[in-house]
Amino acid sequence: MRDKDDLKVFISTRDSTCDECGEKLGRKAWITLMEGKGALCLSCADLDHLVFLPSGDAALTRRARKHSTLSAVVLKWSRARKRYERQGLLVEAPALEKAEKECLSDEEVRARRRKREAERRAEIDRDYVKRFALRVRELYPGCPPGREFEVAEHACLKYSGRVGRSAGAKSLDADPVRLAVIAHIRHTETMYDKLLAGGFDRWAARAKVDGEVQGVLQKWEAATVPNRNGFRKPRR
Ligand SMILES: [Zn+2]
Repeated sequence: MRDKDDLKVFISTRDSTCDECGEKLGRKAWITLMEGKGALCLSCADLDHLVFLPSGDAALTRRARKHSTLSAVVLKWSRARKRYERQGLLVEAPALEKAEKECLSDEEVRARRRKREAERRAEIDRDYVKRFALRVRELYPGCPPGREFEVAEHACLKYSGRVGRSAGAKSLDADPVRLAVIAHIRHTETMYDKLLAGGFDRWAARAKVDGEVQGVLQKWEAATVPNRNGFRKPRR
């Protein structure tokens, strides 16, 4: 068991504010606690790309955690029992899908996928995602096809319930778009999540992958598109 070093996410029971971005998170926000500091929202903690698997199915939980580079236990204070109780696990979406395929019947897998997709549709502001994706494509023309939508959906989910950000913070300015692209590159193109899972401090992990992130960012900023033969050439 790696229970001792598991990352922990707490469902807050009182009004909380993120100590890093200053966002008011409201009641029942999902937060991480830093030793000696305070609360962090899931976005600042770099856990907002994970999906929630409620407790209940031990085999599914075990496998999802095994397949997920980064995972976090979700805990909630029980007033009645005066202790933290495990609510479930935050895992990477592909890890959950893989675990479901291994543990469940095809029919159950399909039903779960449909349910998740419906929840996602309800959470996501389609129009905002589309505008955000276009903006990513405009600022980062070298970004591989389709990635602009991954970046945009992630950025949009930030404003949904779990992360607790206000919709008023939605913006298509170059800076927030750049931050969203950087977060995406960190998660998908570097060892960052592995470092976090290994107990690295976020800032130390960020410093370690920064060179790599900047390299990818520059490539994406350059106005190149892959042509039919897979070669890249300047688009002028
Ligand atoms: Zn924050």
